Amino acid sequence: MSEQIYLDHAATTPVRPEVVEAMLPFFGSRYGNPSSIYGLGRDAREAIDWARDTVARVLHCRPAEIVFTSCGTESDNLAIKGVAFALRDRGNHIITTQIEHHAVLHACEWLERYFGFEVTYLPVDSTGLVDLQALERALTDHTILVSVMLANNEVGTIQPIRAIADLLRRRGIYLHTDAVQAGGTLELDVNRLGVDLLSLSGHKFYAPKGVGVLYVRQGTPLLPIQQGGGQERGRRAGTENVPYIVGLARALELAAEELPSTTQRLRGLRDRLIAGVLERVPGARLTGHPTERLPNSASFVFEGVEGEALLLSLDQHNICASTGSACTSGSLEASHVLKAMGLPVSLAQGSLRLTLGRDNDADQIERTLEVLPGAIERLRAVTPVR
Ligand code: PLP
Repeated sequence: MSEQIYLDHAATTPVRPEVVEAMLPFFGSRYGNPSSIYGLGRDAREAIDWARDTVARVLHCRPAEIVFTSCGTESDNLAIKGVAFALRDRGNHIITTQIEHHAVLHACEWLERYFGFEVTYLPVDSTGLVDLQALERALTDHTILVSVMLANNEVGTIQPIRAIADLLRRRGIYLHTDAVQAGGTLELDVNRLGVDLLSLSGHKFYAPKGVGVLYVRQGTPLLPIQQGGGQERGRRAGTENVPYIVGLARALELAAEELPSTTQRLRGLRDRLIAGVLERVPGARLTGHPTERLPNSASFVFEGVEGEALLLSLDQHNICASTGSACTSGSLEASHVLKAMGLPVSLAQGSLRLTLGRDNDADQIERTLEVLPGAIERLRAVTPVR
């Protein structure tokens, strides 16, 4: 069997050895509960304090503005429901986009369905960019929150978050961004971005699955969505997951240190991959924005090919890829993101997402470019034209 080529870093990443090393003591001798007042507990508290300071340094915010959660999904839910319920008396209107992750979309739909909130789902253009004028038109006196992702998980398009923040700031409307896909690949300065809330998930940047962050700007109204102890300054009850929180902080710290060199290297590989695919595969189309896209993300649609069949074919060559979001793979429904970008369903079903990471190199890109055209040709030969 040939060497495995993992091109699905948007789905998840392996835990870095340095991260494992930082976490290990907290599974063993340093097992205290951070709420305990004796030495072992204080030691765990200090570890969490270190993690909070570290994450705050990377995000350019205050440590008290960091809330540790169990994942990106929880961070998104806490941001949206937390602000919505806290500001219920002021307004019931939320604005988001049609291409958000389901953690945001379904949280918004739940608020609509069960609590009478009104949600506007903004359209995007053919490159996946949100329409700022449509956003401005959608604002009402009742709008309390806007949630727009920093970068899309399926097509990598980066949204103009700063411009959105500028539109909202003078109106006193809070801005949340789901930055889960940007963690480890883009600079994350909450002041430059101008956001009030920002979600991250550890497993997208070489920390374990099951740990996340929600940044909450000081003064942002937020009701907790789960009740219990007073952890995380009352914003997120539950005994802190000390090893995972330490791991997340270590991974984010490493990612921030290496960001300039990683970004440049990944961008080079990504551009080679995109150019190669467009050159060698007839009828291939790049999806997402040509330039405003994540440095590690290449995504395509291919006429006359079923995305799932292509994944299986690549798997036979030991290449791990995705049709788009991991959460929808396994279902044949075309992606809501590609549909919102105006792609016909027949084309949207032939999608492929290749997302790069630390261990990928030029040889792997070349091998992928050797395998992919043949795989597509074979599938086209056996697939009736739709
Ligand atoms: N938001 C985006 C944009 C994502 O890509 C993901 C995961 O793929 C999530 C949220 C959910 O994060 P988690 O898997 O940590 O729940």
